[in-house]
Amino acid sequence: MTIDRNNLHSALLRLDGRGYKAYKDIKGSYNFPDFTLIIDRVQGDPFAAPSNLRLLVPQSIALFPPKLYRSPSREIALRDFLTRQFDRASRKISIRRGTGKSGLISIARTGQEVLDRSSVFIDDNNIEVRFLVGLPARGRTILGRQAAEMLCEDIPEIVSTVLLYSSIDSREIQNHVETVEDACWLRQNLSEKGLVAFVANGSILPRRSGVDPRPLLDDAVAFTSPKSLEVEFNCPNRGLIKGMGIPQGVTLIVGGGYHGKSTLLRAIELGVYDRIPSDGREFVTTNPAAVKIRAEDGRSIAGVDISPFINQLPQGRSTESFSTPNASGSTSQAANIIEALEAGAGLLLVDEDTAATNFMIRDRRMQQLIAKNKEPITPFIDKVRQLYEDCGVSTILVMGGSGDYFEVADTVIAMDNFQPHDVTEKAKAIAKEHINDRIPEGGNNFGKITPRVPLPESIDPSRGRREVKLKVRDVDEVAFGTEDIDLAAVEQIVDTGQLKAIAEAIVYAKEKYLDKKRTLPEILDLVMGDIDSYGLDVLTNFPQGDLALFRRFELAAALDRLRSLKVLPSGKV
Ligand code: ADP
Ligand code: MG
Repeated sequence: MTIDRNNLHSALLRLDGRGYKAYKDIKGSYNFPDFTLIIDRVQGDPFAAPSNLRLLVPQSIALFPPKLYRSPSREIALRDFLTRQFDRASRKISIRRGTGKSGLISIARTGQEVLDRSSVFIDDNNIEVRFLVGLPARGRTILGRQAAEMLCEDIPEIVSTVLLYSSIDSREIQNHVETVEDACWLRQNLSEKGLVAFVANGSILPRRSGVDPRPLLDDAVAFTSPKSLEVEFNCPNRGLIKGMGIPQGVTLIVGGGYHGKSTLLRAIELGVYDRIPSDGREFVTTNPAAVKIRAEDGRSIAGVDISPFINQLPQGRSTESFSTPNASGSTSQAANIIEALEAGAGLLLVDEDTAATNFMIRDRRMQQLIAKNKEPITPFIDKVRQLYEDCGVSTILVMGGSGDYFEVADTVIAMDNFQPHDVTEKAKAIAKEHINDRIPEGGNNFGKITPRVPLPESIDPSRGRREVKLKVRDVDEVAFGTEDIDLAAVEQIVDTGQLKAIAEAIVYAKEKYLDKKRTLPEILDLVMGDIDSYGLDVLTNFPQGDLALFRRFELAAALDRLRSLKVLPSGKV
């Protein structure tokens, strides 16, 4: 049943002066001249998580041209655009109106990435917007007049300034959807050209600072592809675009310190996502199955077969089903690779800055001093080609410190003063001239990846009397039941909304699909398939606006870092 706007107004005035709990009465649906306002959940007090509201604006009033959302990527871009518009308008209008969160009007926070979010939806009938409101009070006493101002005046004003097509800059909106559609198209067309990544000429890769992801302004050197690696695409909207194509296989990024190697890799790493038009990296696109790999000592590992990399540990510990609450640099990096492969990675990205040296290289002299049977680690250099040839998994590696990798690379890119050069021929010639005499240690093949079976009883989201207690701290940490999952090293989680959705997805997977038989990749397929078919709402029991889509790799990474996780040993199913 939908109630008239005027009834909401008078109801709020009547609530003035009463105890906060009386706000519960306003749950429901209200007709405004241009939209419907739905109050889904009312907060318990002014300090609690703010109330969940929704707006439905009929297309007969909003009038967004269907061409702005006719393809899946355009639709995501338009929804992202409207989220940003709503954010801007609500920041301007919302003022403190009492205790705690009183007066707040807010929507999901956005960054440089354009993600599929649950904050705004659009189809031929409606625009739906989900947002939060801090219902105002002084202490615990309802401020009814202020509430009426917020819901009956401020919200209609936001609708009229940002949710009607006629009130929005149509060129800006078109540029937003066309940019995202082109980037998405580029990503989909990489493999057809035998590429794993593309960096458009003119891209601005460096960021303003370590904590400010916007593009560097003044001294940024724009990217220009070396001629030998230059490729051309004909995008659906902007037409021809040129840039550097990184071919499948093993690619090395070399160059002196501070010449832009890590900045290039970071841009590639985030090229699995679409970006806003002003980002500078909006046409840097990467194989969607790219996973950043790094050392992460201290993480827990649950039953991972790291034997392709690590064998014969001291005290005869097995590495075919390796568990530890406190991994070393090299074992953590090995587990990160095997887990990524288990989840279906197609491209690994490694930066020497965050890699374990003894995992990456073992040179001729060290081979002579420490015999192979005294060194549990088979270094990555002896596995990286097998990874490509046996498993079809490419690698892009930043490696300024060891020329031993020249032998195993297909492509070598040198960064010099922030500009790339193709030095493949030169590196190959040097490798021939200075034979390094290393003894290959990798064996005949990469080795098997045996998927694990996660055990449902080892995943417990409860805390105290609450059956499910999840709390996202920032992009690095989520409280899952009584445990904090540390995701600081999972660099491709870029948004708190992703983390919130991942935590919900773990609970969903446990309830629906963990049956002590299904393997982790099978579970990932099922969960991602459900989200694809039914949307992120499938994860929660009422419509929430703060979820953002994540990849299967980050869902797996969060589960892999749950310290309580237990699995059936690989291969014992
Ligand atoms: P490396 O990994 O080769 O040591 P980084 O990628 O960390 O180098 O870059 C070093 C510094 O140079 C960083 O502060 C980065 O922001 C800046 N930088 C990187 N690329 C560019 C560029 N194209 N233009 C201007 N500054 C850049
Ligand atoms: Mg670096």
